[in-house]
Amino acid sequence: MKYNIHTHKNTHQKDVLEIVNQYPNEFDASVPYFSIGIHPWYIDVDKVEEHLRIIEEKLQQKNCLALGECGLDKRIEKPLKIQTEVFEKQLALGIKYQKPVILHCVSAYQEVIEIKKRLNIDVPMIIHGFSKNGQVAKSLLDNGFYLSFGKYLLRNPELASVFEQVPNERFFLETDTIKENIADVYIKATSIKKLDVEQIISDNFKLVFNP
Ligand SMILES: [Zn+2]
Repeated sequence: MKYNIHTHKNTHQKDVLEIVNQYPNEFDASVPYFSIGIHPWYIDVDKVEEHLRIIEEKLQQKNCLALGECGLDKRIEKPLKIQTEVFEKQLALGIKYQKPVILHCVSAYQEVIEIKKRLNIDVPMIIHGFSKNGQVAKSLLDNGFYLSFGKYLLRNPELASVFEQVPNERFFLETDTIKENIADVYIKATSIKKLDVEQIISDNFKLVFNP
C-alpha cells in the first residue's frame, strides 16, 4: 500500500490510500479519505465562521484524517493578521478533535514555529510540499514538525540532499497538484534514501493519521 498524504484529486487507485484535500465550500462526500481546511489563498472573511462550522462537523467523521491544508503565505496580499486569525481558529479545532494538520507554509516558517509553541499544539503538524534548504528543514524538525515531499523532490535535484537527511520517522510523500502519480514520487524517494520507503511511510502513516 502506498500513501499519498496530500492531493487535490481522487485517483481511485486500488493500492493507494490518498488524503484528498477538500474545501468547506465545495465538499465531495464520495471521497474515501480527506482533509479539510481553509487555504490562506481562499479566505473569505464573510464566510469564515460558516466554513469553520463545516470544518468542525467534518472533522468528527472517521474518514477525515487531517485538518488542512491551512497555514500562512507571505507571498499573497491577504494580510498576515487575517491569515493568522483564521489559521489559529482552525488549529483550535484540530486540537479539539485531535487531528493532524497539513500545512501550507510560504515564507512564514518562523511564524508557524512560533504559533506551534505558543498554542502548545499537541497534534502532528506536517509541512506539505517542502522545498527549502537543510537549515529550514532542521529548524522545523527540531520543533517537531513532519515534512512532506513531492513536486520539488521530482523537480529540484538540490532537494535530494535535504531529503536524505530527514529522519525516517519524520517524512511523508505527496502529489499535490502534479500530473505524476504517487508511485513516481516513491521511486524518486527510494532512489535517494536507498531504504524501504514504502515500509517507512506505512509506519509513519499509521502513527500520525491513525486511519
Ligand atoms: Zn495542495
